[in-house]
Amino acid sequence: MTAPSPNRTYQQLRAHLAYLKLDAAADALAGVLDGADDASHVEVLETLLGIEAEATATRRRESRRRLAGLPAEHRLDDFDTDAQPSVAPELLRDLATLRWVDDGGNVLFIGPPGVGKTMLAIGLGHAAIDGGHRVYYTTAADLVARCHKAAIEGRWANTMRFFAAPQLLIIDELGYLPLTGEAASALFQVVNRRYAAGQSIVLTTNRGISQWGEIFDDPVVAAAMLDRLMHRSIIVPIDGDSYRMRTHRNHTHDLRKAITLGD
Ligand code: ADP
Ligand code: MG
Repeated sequence: MTAPSPNRTYQQLRAHLAYLKLDAAADALAGVLDGADDASHVEVLETLLGIEAEATATRRRESRRRLAGLPAEHRLDDFDTDAQPSVAPELLRDLATLRWVDDGGNVLFIGPPGVGKTMLAIGLGHAAIDGGHRVYYTTAADLVARCHKAAIEGRWANTMRFFAAPQLLIIDELGYLPLTGEAASALFQVVNRRYAAGQSIVLTTNRGISQWGEIFDDPVVAAAMLDRLMHRSIIVPIDGDSYRMRTHRNHTHDLRKAITLGD
């Protein structure tokens, strides 16, 4: 019996890779073999499968990004902590480790408009996606609107499962609109399910905790919701001026200076 020719073995290997849908490895095969020189079999295999593993990881991360629906590209590193002294750089570093996601903890950003709550929530979302977690972003208003529609269309259980599924749910802008009894109850059920399953929530709100009764119009629901959210939670109060207004003010200041100089 004669040994198969190297060329035939190579063609078979390519066919195996294609059959197994290891496309990145198939594409890289010729180059890896050419560059192998005196590398051991184990090293060649590791290089080849490493390329496939990397391609798979990238594809999965892209798919998580698409499904998360994050409305911007903000990264935690983009947050200017000099401009916002109420958010300590150590806190951001700590949040970036994502230990709180592993622990099923929550993060609550509380502060007036324009101080970077949404930016930080999105930054945490991207960090969690990069860390391999499934993430979903919604505003509180969208969440309750979807629950309302689902109740009418008989898809309530599905929708509850949908909001329970991701490892991190971001609920942005709670408190801008007061919630009716039905809306408050829908939100409570989402929060409660995630609490029971040990799944994290990042929540942003312009209302201090003492004002939650006003958002929900029902102090009992407000207290129950807070109880779930505060469990294992990191609360980040952000105060100070709106970042947007800050740049606006700087422009105005520059403009005034220019006008004064022009006089
Ligand atoms: P909020 O959700 O608290 O109303 P946003 O996160 O929407 O505020 O921030 C308003 C705008 O200002 C956004 O464009 C955001 O990127 C920017 N911004 C706010 N705070 C900072 C900061 N500390 N560093 C960089 N950009 C900031
Ligand atoms: Mg916001």
